[in-house]
Amino acid sequence: MRPHQGLVKISISTLDNGGLWAHAGRVMIGTLTAAELLRYSRHLLLPAVGEAGQLRLKHASVLVIGVGALGSPAALYLAAAGVGRLGLVDADVVDASNLQRQILHGDAWVGKPKLESAAARLRELNPLVRVELHRERFNPDNALAIAGGYDLLVDGSDNFPTRFLTNDSAFFLRKAVVYGAIHRFEGQTGVFAPHLGGPCYRCLIDQLPAPGTVPSCQEAGVLGALPGIIGSIQAMEALKLLLGIGTVPLGRLTVYDALGSGFRSIQLNRDAQCRLCGDHPGIRGVANAETTAPVPCDFSPHPMQSITTTELRTLLAGDFHGLLIDVREPAEHAIARIEGARLIPLQTLPEVLGSLPKDREIYVHCKAGMRSAKAARLLLERGFTRVTNVAGGLDAWLKDLER
Ligand SMILES: [Zn+2]
Repeated sequence: MRPHQGLVKISISTLDNGGLWAHAGRVMIGTLTAAELLRYSRHLLLPAVGEAGQLRLKHASVLVIGVGALGSPAALYLAAAGVGRLGLVDADVVDASNLQRQILHGDAWVGKPKLESAAARLRELNPLVRVELHRERFNPDNALAIAGGYDLLVDGSDNFPTRFLTNDSAFFLRKAVVYGAIHRFEGQTGVFAPHLGGPCYRCLIDQLPAPGTVPSCQEAGVLGALPGIIGSIQAMEALKLLLGIGTVPLGRLTVYDALGSGFRSIQLNRDAQCRLCGDHPGIRGVANAETTAPVPCDFSPHPMQSITTTELRTLLAGDFHGLLIDVREPAEHAIARIEGARLIPLQTLPEVLGSLPKDREIYVHCKAGMRSAKAARLLLERGFTRVTNVAGGLDAWLKDLER
């Protein structure tokens, strides 16, 4: 894990490539009114923002997909910060069970549309912001038309089809998605922007989990303040992208562990095999059947971690309690193998999942690291959380020996 790897310094030219600044260019448009100067004075004090930055925010637009747990804090902070145009998509109605975490909505709004509730709260918070309401489910028929009207997308959804659809729409529109996901006591956030050189959501997880393999929203639960933290980070990354300041965390997921009180950073590489942004993409449009299939509620998938063969050697030399799996073919295993590795060819892995331990660290390797990455992803999708890919595989292992 290299915390700074994959960071890309944001510059306006970076964003020009993404079309983010097509409408505003690099010049200051107009001036702020007296009311705006007062309201945004704490922004104006920041040299990296200043009046030019505030004007950028004023001329910028963000689409928040879902105004639930994550969309609430994200939309509140984006509105407060003065993002000129804020689009909201949601077709749900406020339920009493939402109020424990969906802070846009108050008790008086139970039974009424979330969008109406959100709009009222955001307009009260900042009447200078234009709030646009899309009172429909974000679906393959409307996704490109809605998302196409905004500079960037904030993913506040809570289910896989919407996440895939958000990701795919952004990919085809060459826009960035600020991603967030929460599950019980853990949250994840990052920025997906293949047009800027980073991975997409499908590089993290590329298949819908089989029904019944992930918990439903009702089963999973989430501690109330968790979405506040993740949604606020999403708002922060969106503001940075719009302002053109700081770094874009491309290829890096930030994982927050509420119980352990810590953040960790996980490297997420673009997957050359990705069906959307890979070298030989199979997905050609957002109307892909997969994004419309009924599936259970979202969970935050555990990102695949990877270690080098040098790190693996150190682990194996110590008090190793994990399980090392070789996913190559028997013939390859017979020629050369890492001592102690259990042979489970990739094709047969799905059949033996039930016999593998979920409470132990699992390390998977192959010849060069590609098949094992697939195996690791499969394990993660099937509920294994402690999965690590051995980067470079046996080739790298043998090369180490030559040194
Ligand atoms: Zn991808």
